[in-house]
Amino acid sequence: MTIASGPPAPSAAAQSAFLEAIGRALPEVRLLTDPVDREGYRNDETAYLHAGLPLAVALPASTAEVAGLVRVAAEHRIPVVPRGAGTGLSGGAAGIEGGLTIALTRMDRILELDRENLCVVVQPGIINAELKRAMAAEGLFYAPDPASYEICSIGGNLGTNAGGLCCIKYGQTRESVLGLEVVLADGSVIRTGGRNVKDVAGYALTHLFVGSQGTLGIITEATLRLRPLPPPRSTMLAFFASLEAAGDAVARMTAAGLVPVTLELMDRATIAAVDDWHQLGLDRDAEAMLMIESDLPAAGAAAEIEAAGAACEAAGATSIVQAADATEADWLRQARRLALRALERQGTVRMEDVGVPRARVPQLLRAIEAIADRHGVRCATFGHAGDGNLHPNFIFERDDARAEELTEAARADLYRAALDLGGTITAEHGIGASRREFLPAQVGEGTVEVMRRIKSALDPLGILNPGRVL
Ligand SMILES: Cc1cc2nc3c(=O)[nH]c(=O)nc-3n(C[C@H](O)[C@H](O)[C@H](O)COP(=O)(O)OP(=O)(O)OC[C@H]3O[C@@H](n4cnc5c(N)ncnc54)[C@H](O)[C@@H]3O)c2cc1C
Repeated sequence: MTIASGPPAPSAAAQSAFLEAIGRALPEVRLLTDPVDREGYRNDETAYLHAGLPLAVALPASTAEVAGLVRVAAEHRIPVVPRGAGTGLSGGAAGIEGGLTIALTRMDRILELDRENLCVVVQPGIINAELKRAMAAEGLFYAPDPASYEICSIGGNLGTNAGGLCCIKYGQTRESVLGLEVVLADGSVIRTGGRNVKDVAGYALTHLFVGSQGTLGIITEATLRLRPLPPPRSTMLAFFASLEAAGDAVARMTAAGLVPVTLELMDRATIAAVDDWHQLGLDRDAEAMLMIESDLPAAGAAAEIEAAGAACEAAGATSIVQAADATEADWLRQARRLALRALERQGTVRMEDVGVPRARVPQLLRAIEAIADRHGVRCATFGHAGDGNLHPNFIFERDDARAEELTEAARADLYRAALDLGGTITAEHGIGASRREFLPAQVGEGTVEVMRRIKSALDPLGILNPGRVL
């Protein structure tokens, strides 16, 4: 792809004056300036974007260091890219030529567990799965779980308002955030929210910063909501002879008021890719598979799984199997989490992220098939069907020169189809750098203008992640 992921680079003189100023003002901050070190921060998971090479990568250890870095960057008009683990799928953390990337990976501590208020205060660099494990050891549950949970950071989850496999029941990341500490574009530090379950004092700034992809402020601390640890999950797989039948099962479960903790879909191509890699014995003749899980206590789980099974049978499921035990269930869930990596073994993958109101999943699946056929593109689809959020993946031979052109044409049709169904062009990965030009088609120019005004009120110099989102 040739989408530029950032603004023009600052002049060479501005860059060297900035580096000198950082050295003077913040001699203790760890700063990578060697080109080999910086190269690792050029891309996130969107290698198809033409991302820039950062002038420097800072690895701060405290909020004060982040604030100092932003203050000097503002003085010198140097663009700043906040970065977590760099697993983003929209180019939000990709480098900007001549910019400063601030990677929050060293700020990875759990600062306080507040059991009485069921919340935990963390730094942004902690990896999602590490936080989950630490809370589980205390009998507590931090719900948000993107499929990348073993490799992505809480800061990145907050930056993207990450989704995942249990949003259908527990919501996206935003639903689990009570308060934030944020470094603003002039280097000042504010706090939003707190530990209150209910809080309507003024505008909902916590919600505004979550999902803003590092364009409005840098999150340096977060107070996150916890829940009691649910029981181990009961897991069921249902196979279908058509994608539409699987979509129909999803619509039936929604209409029946079922809220399983997981309701994931994989199409035939994804089933084969995952099974090739992990030899799980999945039904490779099926056109689609649903993974349905319950985390209710025993009797409730049995009833929920039974009702989901009935909905699948009514939709024409060809077979239904239940995981024999928790280990088998973990293994199946892990295989689903690795669906993208399984497809990447077959070629270059361009992953999309459209969403529709849940009852329209069958229409979206039909539209995806038609678009792939029309453009002659190989497509494998999986995703969070229970949220109406699907990930069509366009797959190409690694040296296919037509990949860029075909993907661009297919994804324009895909976004149009999602919007025609009342959906969204991105449900959890974000606009970032890769979908910017399509934002007005979804929200309208008037709404984009309001977003621009918010951006310029909070970042008048436009130094925070310029060229992303807007
Ligand atoms: C195999 C695979 C599976 C995935 N599955 C899912 C999934 O199920 N659901 C999902 O939602 N995503 C998924 N993703 C995408 C990605 O993992 C998420 O978007 C994740 O939230 C990014 O976290 P990160 O730490 O890597 O952030 P990065 O990629 O480093 O950054 C993401 C964005 O957040 C901003 N940001 C980072 N830290 C901060 C901060 N401290 N303050 C302000 N802004 C910040 C960045 O500027 C950037 O815009 C998947 C990715 C992969 C590779």
